[in-house]
Amino acid sequence: MKKTTLIIATALIAACALPLSACKKGESLDSDKYAICATYDEEEEKLNGTCTFTYHNRTDNELDSLCFNLWGNAYRQDAKNKPAASGDNKAYYCGVNYGGESVESVEGCASWEVCGDDENILKVALSEPLYPEQSTTVTISYTLDLAKINHRTGVTKESVNLGNFYPILCAYSKEGFIQTPYYSTGDPFVSACADYDVTLKLPLGYTAATSGKEVERKEEKDGVTTRYTLENARDFAAVLSKDFKTLTQNFNGCAVTVYYCGERQPQKELNATVESLEYFSSLFGNYAYPTLSVVFTPLNSSGMEYPALTMINSALTEENAVYTAVHETAHQWWYAMVGSNQVTCAWQDEGLAEYSTLAFFETHPAYGFTRTGILGSAIKSYRAYYSVYNQIFGKSDTTMTRAINEYEGEYEYINIVYNKSLLMFESVRTAMGDKKFFSALANYFKDNCFSLAAPEDLIAKFDELYDVEGLIDGYLNGKVVI
Ligand SMILES: [Zn+2]
Repeated sequence: MKKTTLIIATALIAACALPLSACKKGESLDSDKYAICATYDEEEEKLNGTCTFTYHNRTDNELDSLCFNLWGNAYRQDAKNKPAASGDNKAYYCGVNYGGESVESVEGCASWEVCGDDENILKVALSEPLYPEQSTTVTISYTLDLAKINHRTGVTKESVNLGNFYPILCAYSKEGFIQTPYYSTGDPFVSACADYDVTLKLPLGYTAATSGKEVERKEEKDGVTTRYTLENARDFAAVLSKDFKTLTQNFNGCAVTVYYCGERQPQKELNATVESLEYFSSLFGNYAYPTLSVVFTPLNSSGMEYPALTMINSALTEENAVYTAVHETAHQWWYAMVGSNQVTCAWQDEGLAEYSTLAFFETHPAYGFTRTGILGSAIKSYRAYYSVYNQIFGKSDTTMTRAINEYEGEYEYINIVYNKSLLMFESVRTAMGDKKFFSALANYFKDNCFSLAAPEDLIAKFDELYDVEGLIDGYLNGKVVI
């Protein structure tokens, strides 16, 4: 995500009970697969869907259940962890209102229940134990009620934002499936890569910007049905609108399309997106997806990243939208292709996205941002935060090793996860030199693409080329004075 408050105007500111199938030992397992069919009901502002998910057990453990995140339930009235505060008028543009995600049935299992700390988890008990290397398929029928909210999931005055619009498997760790509740601070999402086959049925007149590549389209009297595919992605998002205009440019076989409404002239944002795709591809490794949708849409933050789709707040000025477009493009490397735990280590993807953005603007001065300007703004903002916190609380916790729900609020979160992290990577680069620093990031990308990387994986890549472990530890543990 890109936080609005970071941008300051001047420089910166199917089927039932499918049998278990097993691979032969040593054979590589197919990718997990989501086959999603969803119909948008414009009048009711609902999405009715089925999500058929095929899972391959790559763990060393026998599994008796699968757990899915129901992110849409964070929008319900009695949610403990709401996506926005009730007084957030930028989000609730027509007063506070609610949505929710209800599961109607799950086929291919023994039983199921909606549980978790905040009705945020769908737990599906399997008919029989799933041993390592075995596969199973379940089909979830669900309804997503959309709130009227300028947010990653919601109906806005211009569009329908469909981030996190289907039940998605919780990422698996050695402790089991990671069952994180929704948090309004940061991006509380952790998921593994899978292949997607998504069919959206929309009323006539709607255009969909999606993470996928269109492979089939059928227009009928009552609507248009379009099928999209996407491989090796950790999520799939869409934004719908009746008013979208588009601008498209190709880079290396990838169609980059900007979707926007109204009088906006987003050529500069398109140029910055295509040039940053090119720059990051040459610096870190190739962009993996056949398309990239850059969508201007109302949000309560500056931007939001999904694989092959970025949302940019349509209220941003051109200057801030250009900055945000590059930041969200950088997330295609740091979040989408190389995943990390955005809940426990938010600095890992946000810091790298911010630092990659700096590197882009440093080498593309025509956009008007400079390395010294970006760093100066981060230092100023961080020191102001440090001073304010010391005055109010008599101390400030400057550790970066906290989960997103352990920050006091957005102000602290932004200064630690974005600004301090940016300054940490600047220190690492200064210590290592440009060549080793960017080589380490390219190595990190190559070895962790389509995986979930731990902070140690990133630090090890730097450390292979230069001893910066102590320096990074100093930042992470709050010992470095800025
Ligand atoms: Zn971000």
